Amino acid sequence: MKADPGPLLPDDSVTRLVGIGPKTADAFTAEGITTVRDLLLHLPRRYEDRSSITRIESVNSPGEKILVRGVVRSVRTRRIPRRRLCIVDGVVDDGSGQLPVIWFNQPWIGSRLEGEPELFLYGQIRKRKNGQLELMSPEVDGVDGEDEGIVPVYPRLGRFGGKRLRGLLRQCLAAIDGCDDPLPKSIQKQFGLPPLGESLAQLHAPGTNADVAELNSGSTRWHQRFSFDELTAFACAMAEQRQKRVHRSSVRIDANAVEQVIQNPGLPFTLTAAQERVQHEIADDLIGGYPMARLVQGDVGSGKTAVAALTLRMVLESGSQVAIMAPTELLAEQHLCTLASYLEPSGHTPRLLVSSMPAAERRQVLAGLADGSIGMVVGTHAVFQKKVQYADLGLVVVDEQHRFGVVQRAALVQKGRSPHLLVMTATPIPRSLALTVYGDLDLSIIDEMPPGRREVRTEVRGPSARDKVFNFLRTEIDDGGRVFLVYPLIEASEEIQAAAVEEHEEDVRKRLPGVEIGVLHGRVSRSQREQVTAAFRKGSLQVLLATTVIEVGVDVPEASVMVIESAQRFGLSQLHQLRGRVGRGRRKSWCILITDDEVTSVAHRRLEVVCSTNDGFEIAEADLEIRGPGQLTGTQQWGPAGFRFASLVRDVKLISVTRELAMELAASGSLPEIRNGLARYHPVESVGRAG
Ligand code: ADP
Ligand code: MG
Repeated sequence: MKADPGPLLPDDSVTRLVGIGPKTADAFTAEGITTVRDLLLHLPRRYEDRSSITRIESVNSPGEKILVRGVVRSVRTRRIPRRRLCIVDGVVDDGSGQLPVIWFNQPWIGSRLEGEPELFLYGQIRKRKNGQLELMSPEVDGVDGEDEGIVPVYPRLGRFGGKRLRGLLRQCLAAIDGCDDPLPKSIQKQFGLPPLGESLAQLHAPGTNADVAELNSGSTRWHQRFSFDELTAFACAMAEQRQKRVHRSSVRIDANAVEQVIQNPGLPFTLTAAQERVQHEIADDLIGGYPMARLVQGDVGSGKTAVAALTLRMVLESGSQVAIMAPTELLAEQHLCTLASYLEPSGHTPRLLVSSMPAAERRQVLAGLADGSIGMVVGTHAVFQKKVQYADLGLVVVDEQHRFGVVQRAALVQKGRSPHLLVMTATPIPRSLALTVYGDLDLSIIDEMPPGRREVRTEVRGPSARDKVFNFLRTEIDDGGRVFLVYPLIEASEEIQAAAVEEHEEDVRKRLPGVEIGVLHGRVSRSQREQVTAAFRKGSLQVLLATTVIEVGVDVPEASVMVIESAQRFGLSQLHQLRGRVGRGRRKSWCILITDDEVTSVAHRRLEVVCSTNDGFEIAEADLEIRGPGQLTGTQQWGPAGFRFASLVRDVKLISVTRELAMELAASGSLPEIRNGLARYHPVESVGRAG
């Protein structure tokens, strides 16, 4: 006789469940599920109220989502190889009426329908071209006696779904009592959270009186408990990193040097109040005795470079070296120019370090960095390759951080003795996102534009308006204005992109005879690039035809029109960045977004947002909203954060609440205990990683 295995526990293997043998267990492992606890954390995606089933006779509106219970007949499977399509269709009959039903590219569904007397079908009604209504790609679930009332529907785990998965989860309920709550009662009470056990039970097995609509919104207090825990786990990890950093010692920065720079910034303009504030935040960090790690966020043109320049001076004049890293060579060259103009008057000359430079010149720079004779280097990731040795690196400035990988950021901080780190980003990230994506960094925001900036008037135009647009460009150019024409990254390969731009070039030359036109894309050599940019700045070129390489950096006050082709293909923040290239001088400025023929309504809404405001943060918030809470992958654009339960839109408030909680826990010394408890449910490597 086998010994009594005892009650089911959260850490037990899933093989303890009835119906899971070694083979099935392997299949679950492949889905990241090994224990009963793992399965319990597999929360329902939605709920069906099986006591409220739609009768087919009453179906009349397209777009409606319905649950029907019936038999599917006349099932056919057709393949259309030319369109890579597999269509399964049939007719569902529930006794009250019949409704055509169709699935695309789910060939297995045919066999699923065979021999089933009755099924639940959940899906959306749509109208065919011929006016007939049909049920479109519904989810299919078997009927069994236990599935009455409110039934949870789980996201599939590999080949497991529907009734089968539901049956397994039902067995797991027995282990809920053994799930210890990682949050002490006091914290639960402070934030009005339900206990973990109650949350698991309510979400996996809602009572017959539960509110299905509320459950389906994903925002019940039980759902929130999971978001809270996950965000707290993340915030604890960030707080811990921060604590570690604060306890490391850093390169010493001379407080007198810092004060000197503040007293005598030596810039051709007075700092805005926002720049001034951020400058002081940075100065406090530098003399604080531990390595600074600060993110400076500010819209395009808000004057981040000026703030960076002052920071560079503070460190240089304290006797340490500084390195500036930009995402592209073009931008590195641009920074070199700007920084030289800001810093040469105070005796500091920046040197360039990029992979495309001649070997001899490169060797010279490397030697200068190693022996300390070069104080300031500007470059791409080349600045942080293994071969590059610094005599005494005191500060690293990273521009446009969102393009750098986490690993790169870690590697750069290892150079030298914990140099100070200043990250600048022009991608206006909603604050909530910034706190997660850059959770371990301190945040400074430049929320004010230098005086004299112009609002850029933005308009959307269809392809048929192209003639008119070019007439307008002609007038602008004749009046002394300069124009950017930007084409999207249609193809991944730079060769093809270059070809596409060159093709456009011909068309543009025909449309603008007598106008001097320059071309800029990833294939243009460095020296040519410098020439083109300089000529455009001088005005000997009036039109710059480019891919998004000009997204950041090119600063030409006379540039007054930005035309963006196939604008619907760009991300909102990218459009905003591009627009930031104009409106920098005295001229009235325009941004014209030309769309292709076919533009979805969502794309239109997005473009309207760009037209309606010049405020990058508003645009970022709207972007996040339009994408919706479910679209977590959308955050990729901003960084590596991704949460399993929390939504960066829905749970915005929780993000700052849990961050504060983690800081308090760190201060009181109870952080490790809570973090370990939470880690059983929310291992931090699976939560958003911020490096
Ligand atoms: P960002 O790097 O944030 O895009 P920049 O530092 O390039 O912005 O500044 C944009 C433009 O504004 C530059 O031409 C710069 O010289 C100018 N500028 C920056 N700060 C000020 C200021 N306080 N007053 C006037 N002009 C400024
Ligand atoms: Mg900049």
